[in-house]
Amino acid sequence: MNIAHLLLGSAQEFGDRPALARGPTPHLGYRDLWRKVSVMSTHLRIRFGLQRGDRVAFAMTNCVESIEVMYAIWHAGLCAVPMNAKLHAKEFAFILENSGARLCFVTPDLAGTIAEAAREAPDLKEIVDTTTRAYGFMEVGDPSPIADCEPTDLAWLFYTSGTTGRPKGAMLTHRNLLAMTLNYYADVDRPVAGGSIVHAAPISHGSGLWNFPMLARGAVQVFPESGKYEVPETVELMNRWPDCSIFLAPTMVKRLIEHGSVSDLQPGAIRLITYGGAPMYVSDLKRAMETLGHVLCQLYGQGESPMTITHLSREFHAQKDDPRWDARLASAGVADTCMEVRVVDEDGRQMSTGEVGEIICKGDPVMAGYWNNPEATARSLRKGWLWTGDVGAFDEEGFLTLKDRSKDMIISGGSNIYPREIEDVLNLHPGVAECSVVGRPHPEWGEDVVAFVVARPGASVAPAELDRLCLDNIARFKRPKDYKFVDALPKNNYGKILKTDLRSKL
Ligand code: AMP
Repeated sequence: MNIAHLLLGSAQEFGDRPALARGPTPHLGYRDLWRKVSVMSTHLRIRFGLQRGDRVAFAMTNCVESIEVMYAIWHAGLCAVPMNAKLHAKEFAFILENSGARLCFVTPDLAGTIAEAAREAPDLKEIVDTTTRAYGFMEVGDPSPIADCEPTDLAWLFYTSGTTGRPKGAMLTHRNLLAMTLNYYADVDRPVAGGSIVHAAPISHGSGLWNFPMLARGAVQVFPESGKYEVPETVELMNRWPDCSIFLAPTMVKRLIEHGSVSDLQPGAIRLITYGGAPMYVSDLKRAMETLGHVLCQLYGQGESPMTITHLSREFHAQKDDPRWDARLASAGVADTCMEVRVVDEDGRQMSTGEVGEIICKGDPVMAGYWNNPEATARSLRKGWLWTGDVGAFDEEGFLTLKDRSKDMIISGGSNIYPREIEDVLNLHPGVAECSVVGRPHPEWGEDVVAFVVARPGASVAPAELDRLCLDNIARFKRPKDYKFVDALPKNNYGKILKTDLRSKL
C-alpha cells in the first residue's frame, strides 16, 4: 500500500475538516489537500520527469508546504528525503549527493544554502522554492491517479542525526511507516477526529513521522508561523487548536514547563505530549507531570525503527501509588505491540533479567537497511534483528531501562559505568541546569568519569555538593573525578548532546 492512501482515506472521511493550518489560520481542508497533492503529483511525474523510486529531497523550515510536498512525493511513487532545516551547507551537500536526489524543495530562507550545496550533488537537476511561481504552478493542471506501490518500496530516506561521523540514510518503506502508524494507535493513543498536532519539532524527524497517525484521524496539522519552537506561540496554538498531540524532545518539555506562559494553557488544550529521542531525567519528568497533568507518553525509537521500539504509556506515568513508580519513570517502558525486543550479549545470546546488554529489535517498522551502505547495513541488521547500538536491561516485568549508547559507556577499572545514571543524580541539584557525563582516558583505570555541568543563571554549584549527592545515591566508584563547569553543552540540530565533542575537549 502507498502511504499516501492515508490522505485519500481522510479526504473521504473528513473532507471538510481543516488538514493544515498556518499558525491560527486554516490553510487547506482534507479534500482540497488531496486534490492539490494529486495535481502536484502530475507535475512531479510529467514536468520534472521523475520515475518510481526517484528521490526528492526537501530543506524546509517547518511550514504547511512540507506536508503538501511529502504527500505529492508519495502520491507519485517517489521517495522523500527530508532534511533538517538547521543543517550546514556541507551536510546538505552530503545528503543530496548521497541520496542521489533529483529534485529539492526549499523554503526561501534555505534557497541560497541549497544552491551552494547543489554544486556537489551532480544528480540534483532542479531546486523549487515554495514561495515562487514554479511552486504555485504545481497546483494547476489535472490530477493523476495515485501511484501503485509495493509495501517494500522506499518512502522516506531518514538521515540519522549523526552524533558520530557521517549521517546514514535509513531506508523506510511504505510498510515501515504504516506499521509505525498502526502501532501509534495500539500503544500511544487513538486520537478522535478533530484534534490537532502542532509541529514544534523538526518535520524531518519525530514530529514529521507523527503526521501519519494524526492525518489518518482527521487532525489538523498546525505549523507555528515562526517556523520554530517558541513556547508562548506553542501555548497559544494549543489553545487555538485544542485536543493537541505534540511531539517534544525532553529539552523542549523542560523549556515548556519552565516558561511563564505555561500557565496560560487552557484545560483540554493538550491531549498528549510524546517525548523521546533522548533521556528525560526523572526529576524533570516529575516536574512536567506536576505542571501539565497526565498527558505524557514516552517513546523509545530511532530512525532505523521510527518512533517504535518501546513506550511508557500515560497510564504508567499516572501510577503514582505503585512502589515501582520511580523505576518505571526511569525506564523507557515496555516493548511496542508490533515489536519483539531483546537484550543480548555480543554474540546475540539473550541476557537474563537485570543484565545489561545491547538492545535489538525485530518487527514491521524496522528499516530495510542503509542507503548505499552495505557495510553499515550488515552491522545493524543481522538475521532480521536491528542492533540499535543502545545498551539497556529488562526488569522482571518487561520494562526496559536504557543505559546509554554502547559507545558512551565508560569502562573504569574494569567496571561498566553508565553516564545516564550519574546524570540523573547530578540533575537532582537545584542549581544544575544541564549536565553530561563522559569518560576520559586514564593510564591506570582505562577511563575515569568526568561531568560537564551547566549551572542555572545566578546559582552556585560546588563540586563538593555534587559529590555529596553522588555519594548519597550511587556507588562510590561512579562518582565523577572531575567537574567541568561550562556555559553550554554542545548539541546537534536535534538538541542531542554531542558527547564526542565533550570527549575531545578532554
Ligand atoms: P534518532 O535516530 O536520531 O532518532 O536517535 C535515536 C537514538 O536516540 C536512540 O538510539 C537512543 O539512543 C536515543 N533515544 C531515543 N528515544 C529515547 C528515550 N526514550 N530515552 C533515551 N534515549 C532515547
